[in-house]
Amino acid sequence: MCEEATVSLADVVQEDEQLQEEASAVLAGSDSERCSYPQGYVKRQALYACNTCTPKGGQAAGVCLACSYKCHEGHQLFELYTKRNFRCDCGNGKFADAPCKLFHAKDDVNGLNKYSHNFFGEYCTCRRPYPDPEDQEDDEMIQCVLCEDWLHGRHLGCDVPDHVESWEMICEACMNTHAFLWRYAARLAGKRRENVLRDLTDPPASDPVPGAAVESDAAKETTADETDGATEPSRKRVCPEEAEAKPGCGLEALQNAGAERPGSGAVFWPPGWRSRLCRCDACQASLAAAGLSFLPDESDTVLAYEKKGRSEEGGAPGHDPLMSALDNLSRVQQLEIIHGYNDMKSELKDFLQGFVAEGKVVTSADIRQFFERQQSRKRRRADDRFHCA
Ligand SMILES: [Zn+2]
Ligand SMILES: [Zn+2]
Ligand SMILES: [Zn+2]
Ligand SMILES: [Zn+2]
Ligand SMILES: [Zn+2]
Ligand SMILES: [Zn+2]
Repeated sequence: MCEEATVSLADVVQEDEQLQEEASAVLAGSDSERCSYPQGYVKRQALYACNTCTPKGGQAAGVCLACSYKCHEGHQLFELYTKRNFRCDCGNGKFADAPCKLFHAKDDVNGLNKYSHNFFGEYCTCRRPYPDPEDQEDDEMIQCVLCEDWLHGRHLGCDVPDHVESWEMICEACMNTHAFLWRYAARLAGKRRENVLRDLTDPPASDPVPGAAVESDAAKETTADETDGATEPSRKRVCPEEAEAKPGCGLEALQNAGAERPGSGAVFWPPGWRSRLCRCDACQASLAAAGLSFLPDESDTVLAYEKKGRSEEGGAPGHDPLMSALDNLSRVQQLEIIHGYNDMKSELKDFLQGFVAEGKVVTSADIRQFFERQQSRKRRRADDRFHCA
């Protein structure tokens, strides 16, 4: 073994997938050429705030991906990742003398846009910049699905689950603003992860809130570490008659079952939790009144947004992870990316296959060498272009 740190095949493949996914996340719903303003309030898009045009102390404003490239080139931009229901502000009344180069006929303000300290480059309850030059701690920032602020893991007031990427987080402030969520949290969130996951996969979607079947199921498996909070007693109290009663309001059923606020701190929700929210008329009306109509909609999730740019496993033949993210790019950009990506992928596979065949360990030096070779080929290909018809 050499001194180089070794890299497993799985590591390489995983990293490759992560890079694809990160690229897709931004590309998927966002056009890099055209301002998104004519589309109105976009369900979810990559968003930027310009510290040069709209600095702190003034009015907050957000601009779309294309505007960040074309209208704010060379400016100091805050990357806001994605936000929901936002209409591009570029060049509107908030921009004193920086007109939008891509779309001119804009209203002075977009009244339905929501702004936060993120638009001035501050994040979390501690209102720090990101990256934070004064922060030595390696701490992941996690986005609240309601206020869409980014919070430090250590400022959430709860433990962060292992597979945090596929879970959704609601910060404590938002939980308390929409206190009914604590009732759902008592059932769907918290530490009972295995149970929650099974609860979410087992019952049919026609039963939005876990009914009696789930109740009794969970009650069977009381273990020592699960007796925290008010959720346990409620489970035991549910009787079969209650379960067979009117389908009615699932949230009300939770209340009757005694589901209470399990604690303080942010709450992590497992995949699929949104489809478990009650959608009766009363609940839909109160969600709308609270500005949360998007909540039961799985396609609102960042995960769903990211998936748009990924091919489904075993999907259409010849459909590659990056392909569906390329729709909004120009022909030339598309071809270049597809070309480079396919080349890289098949060559990396061949390269790694060699190691597998010989039973050798792949080192990071090997990987570095591979990518260096790729780089020089890319350069060569760029030169070739000028000789082609
Ligand atoms: Zn724009
Ligand atoms: Zn700017
Ligand atoms: Zn613009
Ligand atoms: Zn913080
Ligand atoms: Zn929040
Ligand atoms: Zn309801």
